[in-house]
Amino acid sequence: MSDFRVRFAPSPTGEPHVGNIRTAIFDWLLAQRHGGDFIVRVEDTDRARAVDGAVEVIIEALKWLGLEWNEGPDIGGEYAPYKQSERLPLYAKYAERLIASGFAYKCYCSPERLIKVRKERSKQQNTTGYDRRCRNLTGEERNALELELRARGENPVIRFKMPLDGTTTIDDLVRGEVTFENRLVDDFVMLKSDGYPTYHLAHLVDDHEMRITHVLRGEEWLPSVPRHLQLYAALGWKPPQFAHLPIILAPDRSKLSKRHGATSLLEYREMGYLPHTMVNFLTLLGWSLDDKTELFSTDSLIANFSIERVSKAGAIFNTEKLDWMNGHYIREMSTNELADALLNFWQAYPPPEIPSLPSHELALEIVPLVQERMKTLRDAAPLVAFLFKERIEYEPDELIQRRMDVASTHMCLEAAHDGLTNLPAFNAESIEALLRGMVKEIDVKAGQLFGSLRVATTGQRVAPPLFESLEVLGRERSLALIADARDRLDVATAAHK
Ligand code: GLU
Repeated sequence: MSDFRVRFAPSPTGEPHVGNIRTAIFDWLLAQRHGGDFIVRVEDTDRARAVDGAVEVIIEALKWLGLEWNEGPDIGGEYAPYKQSERLPLYAKYAERLIASGFAYKCYCSPERLIKVRKERSKQQNTTGYDRRCRNLTGEERNALELELRARGENPVIRFKMPLDGTTTIDDLVRGEVTFENRLVDDFVMLKSDGYPTYHLAHLVDDHEMRITHVLRGEEWLPSVPRHLQLYAALGWKPPQFAHLPIILAPDRSKLSKRHGATSLLEYREMGYLPHTMVNFLTLLGWSLDDKTELFSTDSLIANFSIERVSKAGAIFNTEKLDWMNGHYIREMSTNELADALLNFWQAYPPPEIPSLPSHELALEIVPLVQERMKTLRDAAPLVAFLFKERIEYEPDELIQRRMDVASTHMCLEAAHDGLTNLPAFNAESIEALLRGMVKEIDVKAGQLFGSLRVATTGQRVAPPLFESLEVLGRERSLALIADARDRLDVATAAHK
């Protein structure tokens, strides 16, 4: 192991957004590339925003993508993620230490006062939201406010003392040097009155304690960096290296949000995208090798990934490209792999077209019918719906192809029925040879004969390849469907007369 250590630090506030998962993928790739450690740390100190079950969903998403972490509390041969809520005394200890060393102070301001002050100050330009009243209290004032607050059963918060002048410069691995003016940065809260730390204190203490070397996160965190660098300095710690990743945009160049469609990674699973597609696709949102290579195996991502090639510009989430990529990876799968993927998918999300989970054997037969025509795993079930229907629904008229009439259609169905009855081996190859020969014999166009048979046996205009479909249906069922089509045609014509 190298001393390269990265962490993914999700807040359990809901389903994991593709942007956060992109960060996790970059972290993981970097750890793999350098033989370092990948750590998952749940940042659950904001109790108001925590959502029940969110941690489980995040874990599920990471596992689905194969982003395994290699450290954390041992839970029987597996690692759980670290959880900040289990480490509270640690943060309190450092907050107290910062008070003792003069870098932090207790603040007794009521929420009402803070709102009022913020509102007043928002009219002035170039100032902070909090007026730093409690930073400058005398010992006496402090004691009085402390007693008053405690008498009400409340606790003060602890704020960090930002320097009142000077600048703080970050040397970001993606953005280069960015400088901030200290006087514009608030004396931020590190420890809340409920004893829980804020993100600013908690993540920093953990990154230090966990010896994190590289912090990758969304660019929305960049403005918080001056706080963090000042806090590192106050604690006498060396900061890790930072890489602030570009924002993910919708095609209209606004921030990707629910109104553009799915934003949760697991929704993409449910829509039938493969995990490797998501890894490949999300990696290209902000990283590129050479501006032209799009398809990468996991190994080649690991071999090539580097922060130097992460761009500053926002990355556009292009669903057409995602579909194209998924179709590509579906076509690359072996029959067996795709059969397994379909069965797992249908088990997790039973499609309305398929009444019960098919056998593995049937799934193997289905694959050649659908593999070339799928963009997502969801596309398969509608294509093979006919295999699972008691009765195929269509209008008898649909059997009659262009430039055909009832009589010629009847003749086609009849000829096919006879031919297929006597065919020695009922497989796609011999079915095709038979039907192609028949076209000449009965003097119709291939499209006319095949079109009628397609409607008769699948009820679908857009269906999988005909010969393969007949093979999967089997001789008995195919013949019954063709005979039924002939009868339906007859009944419909009789009714017209
Ligand atoms: N908990 C923060 C988030 O979910 C983590 C940011 C960071 O990686 O430092 O955005």
